[in-house]
Amino acid sequence: MNGNARITVSPKVWTPKQIEEAWELKQKLGTNAMYISGGTWVQLRWELGEAVPNHIIHLGRIEDLPKVKMSSDHTLNISAFASLAACRSSPDIHRYWPILAEAARNVGSPAVRNQGTIGGNIACGYGDLIPALLVLDAKITSFDGKQYITDELINFLNQNPSDKIVTEIHLQKSSNFSNKTFYKKIGRREAFTLSLLTVAGALLVNDKNEVEQARLAVGGGDMVPKRLLICEGQLKGKVLTEELCQRAHAQILQEFQPHTDRYTSSQYRKLIAANLLIAGLTDSLY
Ligand SMILES: Cc1cc2nc3c(=O)[nH]c(=O)nc-3n(C[C@H](O)[C@H](O)[C@H](O)COP(=O)(O)OP(=O)(O)OC[C@H]3O[C@@H](n4cnc5c(N)ncnc54)[C@H](O)[C@@H]3O)c2cc1C
Repeated sequence: MNGNARITVSPKVWTPKQIEEAWELKQKLGTNAMYISGGTWVQLRWELGEAVPNHIIHLGRIEDLPKVKMSSDHTLNISAFASLAACRSSPDIHRYWPILAEAARNVGSPAVRNQGTIGGNIACGYGDLIPALLVLDAKITSFDGKQYITDELINFLNQNPSDKIVTEIHLQKSSNFSNKTFYKKIGRREAFTLSLLTVAGALLVNDKNEVEQARLAVGGGDMVPKRLLICEGQLKGKVLTEELCQRAHAQILQEFQPHTDRYTSSQYRKLIAANLLIAGLTDSLY
């Protein structure tokens, strides 16, 4: 904990064993309570001076499904409570979704990755795994107090997911997309700081060399991760020529509107994002 920490209360920690019990506790305790899984994201927020709630509902003790499991229909089901280290070391993730292993590998230190979870990374709304999961077309299952709902990650992020408990992440194995994916993270030197920028992409090209589908996502730091849907649409059905790449670069500069913070200007972030995404697209063709 650094010198900025202002943790002055000792919150009561609840350790429900069932999702329903966790949900009911949150409803009862209201805004005085928050869920945590690994607690590593909230630790950073508290160190920056954010208020510590009176009650913490620790989801990490919930009797759970296997952490990472491939089902017979080639869907990989990842428990939201799987640690980042487990995601990083899963042979299935390594083999079929290497950018997810790469994204997990790039978070914090080994201790943070052992404790931090994939569910917490998504639920905080800013995690560096989100751009990778967006381009992999991940689906999310969450519990809303009455039922388990599975939806596209992109839809889940666009709603206000704050009250839902994320329980699982699903990835569909697709031979077409398997190798044409990329992920890059730009950070500062200090290991305890969040990234400045995270980009990810996935490309599906047919035998005429036309782009059948492109998915591009950006995030990092305190930017809400997003897909660059207009740029993706511009690429669809076309051969990735130098001229098309230039137009896509210009489109990314328009479509991605990061803010300026005390470390980096908006213009710099845009330019780096556009350069990394176009380099990733062209590299993944070979
Ligand atoms: C030193 C350090 C470096 C870090 N570096 C990075 C980094 O480079 N990139 C990065 O992305 N993150 C980083 N983090 C943050 C964090 O480690 C990861 O994002 C981690 O995946 C968060 O998971 P968690 O289980 O610890 O989340 P928690 O802190 O437990 O929770 C995060 C948020 O999600 C909510 N939540 C947690 N689980 C659920 C759930 N299942 N359903 C609904 N809501 C839930 C909580 O209420 C909270 O709002 C760093 C943290 C530290 C301490």
